[in-house]
Amino acid sequence: MALQLHRTARFLPLLQHRGSALSPRRSCADMSPGSRLRVLLDMDGVIADFEGGFLKKYRQRFPNDPYISLEERRGFWVSTQYGELRGDLCDKAISIWESKNFFIELEPIPGSVEAVKEMVKMKNTDVFICTSPIKHYAHCPYEKYAWVERHLGPDFLEKVILTRDKTIVSGDILIDDKPDILGVEPNPSWEHVLFTACHNKHLPPSTTQRRLLSWDDEWRGILVGSRS
Ligand SMILES: [Mg+2]
Repeated sequence: MALQLHRTARFLPLLQHRGSALSPRRSCADMSPGSRLRVLLDMDGVIADFEGGFLKKYRQRFPNDPYISLEERRGFWVSTQYGELRGDLCDKAISIWESKNFFIELEPIPGSVEAVKEMVKMKNTDVFICTSPIKHYAHCPYEKYAWVERHLGPDFLEKVILTRDKTIVSGDILIDDKPDILGVEPNPSWEHVLFTACHNKHLPPSTTQRRLLSWDDEWRGILVGSRS
């Protein structure tokens, strides 16, 4: 115990100095627990246009095969619907997003970059990207970071969370286009706000789940509602 106290005392001035230097503008109120809103943003289908990018590259690579228009998309898993269309198309679909440059070349969802940049400047708000990389990891994780750097800037690389299980990440709201987000935690801390996408817009409206129709929708109001 005495040794521990001695060591703590030795480093106390250093810790105090580093704390003040790293966060010179933070007030005590800013640092009180629960005072900040933590927003988790999904990437594919929320800020990066996975569906549009997929269809474009699929049609380029397999011009003689049938395809599913965005209006006809149903269900979260693209490969499942393509497999139902014709058995061999499931693997062809998967080959698209497993290819080099698929994720880095996705276009931003309209309005997403502007919204995220505005969101990070909002008072008492912490914004993270919470995204699940595909298990074929040769390109996807690297390209997700590269996409964030390209569109949101290098500082935002601090805000990237790669996880296959979003239920274990704590936050106040998670904006995500996947209708069911399941994992080992049965009661995630966040409220799931469903971001409308071509594959989920036909689902019946929920009385318990809020929706964000697009980045032209009232995302600021969603955040305000989450604070109260
Ligand atoms: Mg998504």
